[in-house]
Amino acid sequence: MRTPNAVARDYYGILGVSRDASDDEIKRAYRKLARQFHPDVNPDPEAQEKFKDINAAYEVLSDDRKRQIVDLGGDPLAPGGGGAGPGGPGGAGPFVGFQDIMDAFFGGAAGGSRGPRPRTRPGADAILRLELDLNETAFGVEAPITVDTAVLCTTCSGAGTAAGTHLATCEACGGRGEVQSVQRTFLGQVVSARPCTVCQGYGTTIPHPCPTCAGDGRVRTRRSLTVKIPAGVEDGMRIRLAQQGEVGPGGGTAGDLYVEIHERPHDVYSRKGDDLHCRVTVPMTAAALGTRLTIKTLDSEETVDVKPGTQPGSTLRLRARGVPHLRGTGRGDLYVHLDVRTPTKLDADQERMLRDFAKTRGEEVAELTKQGGFFSRMRDAFNGHA
Ligand SMILES: [Zn+2]
Ligand SMILES: [Zn+2]
Repeated sequence: MRTPNAVARDYYGILGVSRDASDDEIKRAYRKLARQFHPDVNPDPEAQEKFKDINAAYEVLSDDRKRQIVDLGGDPLAPGGGGAGPGGPGGAGPFVGFQDIMDAFFGGAAGGSRGPRPRTRPGADAILRLELDLNETAFGVEAPITVDTAVLCTTCSGAGTAAGTHLATCEACGGRGEVQSVQRTFLGQVVSARPCTVCQGYGTTIPHPCPTCAGDGRVRTRRSLTVKIPAGVEDGMRIRLAQQGEVGPGGGTAGDLYVEIHERPHDVYSRKGDDLHCRVTVPMTAAALGTRLTIKTLDSEETVDVKPGTQPGSTLRLRARGVPHLRGTGRGDLYVHLDVRTPTKLDADQERMLRDFAKTRGEEVAELTKQGGFFSRMRDAFNGHA
């Protein structure tokens, strides 16, 4: 029944753009955020994390193929998520073209890290699609969900080191997390700093990694939980479960899990806000003479009267028989749109009765002949002779 197991990071949310954002909007959003969170202008460790997220989001959303994976609910950067992620070419994780970073700064100097980066970092937010029926979105439901996520490694409690061992200062960079190189160029000496490749910029190494998590401080697992969906939620709404997302590297604070509601189309009712609409067809005679209908609503059965002389396209309104309001009390309405069915086949008796009926009302009816007489009469009608 439910297929919400794929957990993907909310790349659209990271850039703050809508799911139908154009390439241009994505680029603009990326540049604005990159300028704000680039480590050169914002030394805050959280900003560094954010900068990485922003780059990852841009990498994914600026690539049609990867964006498609996201739109299908996958994560192109997750291991086995359908794309070359960390461990792919280069193995360095999300990487955005140098030109894009330069563009973000309009020529400002890019690169150059500031000291070792912390091993413990906050976890990423995750988003999960939850498909629900109209009855579930209308009246609420406790939905069981399964998430594939990263949780704290209980063997090392997030430290990443094997029992009884410790981190060691990186010998290659002396613990600074970066190495400087001096180049002589025709402009003079250029000093550049790059993250240390031996310790990946941490300034420390793990001589004896935890055997359970291989030093990451977290392990991937499948977790089951129950989400309480309130009555009246709508398609596309997101429910935030604080700190139910991924645990960060080194056992960092977990991100949030967003459950995005997807409402399955209903066989009978279409939903507009909290109002419901349905179509009911009544025979021509019932529309003319009036009738009584039994309408099955989402949670009750109502009897409604169709007045004599009802026209096709008329609407009946059943107050407060729609979807309960998410905020406040009360419910939307249920609109019943009436179609009138004209009989398609008449036997000889029925046809005679209808013709007699038409005559008593003074309604002239063309006699349909096999030689296309109908069309000639139509022409007369247009000419005003009918
Ligand atoms: Zn561990
Ligand atoms: Zn190092």
